Amino acid sequence: MIVVKVGGSAGINYDLVCDDIAALVKSGTQVILVHGGSHETNVISERLGKPPRILTSAQGYTSRYTDSETLDIFAMVYAGKMNTRIVERLQKRGVNAIGLSGIDGRLLEGPRKASVRAIVDGRQILVRDDYTGKVEKVNTGLLALLSGAGYTPVITPPACSTEGEAINVDGDRAAAMIASAIGAKQLIILSNVPGLLRQFPDESTLITHIKYSELEQALSFAEGRMKKKVLGATEAIAGGVEQVVFADARLPNPIANAIAGKGTVISR
Ligand code: ADP
Repeated sequence: MIVVKVGGSAGINYDLVCDDIAALVKSGTQVILVHGGSHETNVISERLGKPPRILTSAQGYTSRYTDSETLDIFAMVYAGKMNTRIVERLQKRGVNAIGLSGIDGRLLEGPRKASVRAIVDGRQILVRDDYTGKVEKVNTGLLALLSGAGYTPVITPPACSTEGEAINVDGDRAAAMIASAIGAKQLIILSNVPGLLRQFPDESTLITHIKYSELEQALSFAEGRMKKKVLGATEAIAGGVEQVVFADARLPNPIANAIAGKGTVISR
C-alpha cells in the first residue's frame, strides 16, 4: 500500500502521474491518491471576482483565507473539477478510481479552528469566519472497504469538522495522516519542484536526503507552502511511516522515480 499526494501547483502533469498509478495498480500495488488544487482555485477565484487572500501566521505558515463563499469555490474546484478529472484520467487508463472528499463518510475529520491569528501589515489580527482546521482522524474502515473491493481512492480536501462542517485542510498534512493511519511504509509527495531546495528556486541545490532529526533544520530552507510539506513529512515519520519522498510531478515516471529515490528522501 502506497500513499501518493500530488499537489495543485502550476506545471504539474497529472497525465504522467496517472500513467504511473495505472502501472502500479496493474502490478498489484494498492494506491491511495490524495490531491490538491491550489493553482486552479486561484485562477477560478479571480475569474469569479473573489481573488484569493492568503493568511500568514506569526511562525510564517501560510493558508488560504476560507470564508463560506471561498469554501464554495474551493469545493467546486477541489472536489468538483480536479477530483473528477483525475478520476477520469485513471478510468481511461483502466483503473477503477473512486473520488471522495474528506467530508464523505467523515473520511478526514478534525476540529475547526475557532479563530486564526494572522499577521496583516505587521499587525496581528484575529480571523473568526475562517473554515479551516486540521485532520486528526482518518476513516480507515472506509478506505479498507474500497481498496479491498478493488477501487483506487482519489481523495481531496475539504475535510469534515467535528461538528460536520466542510473545512479547508492542508493536503500534505492530510496525506501524512492517511499514510500513518493505514500503516503505509512510504508517502510520496509530488509537486512542481524536484524536492526540497537548499536555495529555492535554484534546482541544483536539491537536498537528496534528510534524517528525521534534521527536519527542524530543513524547515529553515522551506518558504511559503513548502513549510507545510516539511511539517507533513515530520508528522508522517512520527506516525510510523518509514519514508517520505518529495519528488517532481512535471517529468515522466514521477512516482517510479520517487520510489527509486529521486528527489528528497526523508527517513528515520
Ligand atoms: P503543491 O500545491 O504542488 O502541493 P505547493 O505550492 O504547496 O505545492 O509547494 C511547493 C512550492 O513550494 C514550490 O512550487 C515552491 O514555489 C515553494 N518552495 C518554497 N521553498 C522551497 C524550497 N526550499 N524548495 C522547494 N520548493 C520551495
